[in-house]
Amino acid sequence: MVQTRDNALSVREVPGKGLGVYAISDLSKGTRILAQKPTIALKAHQPLVDAWRIFQTLSPTKQRQFKTLHGAANHRKMNDLLRSCDEHGIRDRDEAAHVMDIYNTNAFETDRKGNAASAVFQKTARINHSCIPNAEATYNKRLGRQVVHATRDVKAGDEITVSYTRPIERTAVRQWHLEDHYGFSCDCPACDDDEEFATESAERREHMVNLNEMLEAYNDDADCAVIKTAEEAVETTEQLIGLMGEEGLFGKDVGRLHWDIGSHYEALERWKDARKHYDLALEVYTLCCGADHPLVEKLDLKLAKLP
Ligand SMILES: [Zn+2]
Repeated sequence: MVQTRDNALSVREVPGKGLGVYAISDLSKGTRILAQKPTIALKAHQPLVDAWRIFQTLSPTKQRQFKTLHGAANHRKMNDLLRSCDEHGIRDRDEAAHVMDIYNTNAFETDRKGNAASAVFQKTARINHSCIPNAEATYNKRLGRQVVHATRDVKAGDEITVSYTRPIERTAVRQWHLEDHYGFSCDCPACDDDEEFATESAERREHMVNLNEMLEAYNDDADCAVIKTAEEAVETTEQLIGLMGEEGLFGKDVGRLHWDIGSHYEALERWKDARKHYDLALEVYTLCCGADHPLVEKLDLKLAKLP
């Protein structure tokens, strides 16, 4: 039995956005809000048309619920879906294309390795996007479920939001991705031109992307890497974590960055500092993914092996 607080949620209309998910009681940071099994899941290399085949095996109630989700395909993408239905000899091509569009729009990556496997999780698919979200969704392979955790304290009445894009991304790139893939323009505080915060946020994200690229080049041991030493990598990563904090971002990325710092300190044989940052990574992953996440176990093992 996976404990969640999904009884603390309600689905209702968000002005101008369709439906959204709201907290009906206070939720503290780290609370597991949802833990869901997929409604429809596709393995890597499985064609999208299989989403339609699986859809037809669902109960009428589940089919009805699924069809209330948003499909964002534009005219060109919809024509591609219809053509694909024809190629597979599907009779109910309009309905099938609609279901495939919903799948495409709401699918969540369940395995990043190779050609990603994916799934649609009915309840999470209702959660709207924010570039400064208060929750994060993760797939837990061991549970076979997608879990959603509050990444900061949420007050009763607040809308629950997750990020549909990579948080460490330039404002224009995020906005293009949201528009192109999900068919909406974001008006969160980081995107709303009328807000002073949006200007600061755009500068901060630009800075974050640059630092992240420098760190990736160092971690990949690239010839062009600007960062040359583990000490410089630690300093740059700390700076990036600081910027994420100023931006109001908390989630797995912060855990990954602490993990990286731990590795840099390990390379320097500074075991105490390494331990401190692995501990911080463990804390972040436990809050954002849960103590039952495989990464938490991996970190526990790492800590046990440190001198
Ligand atoms: Zn936004």
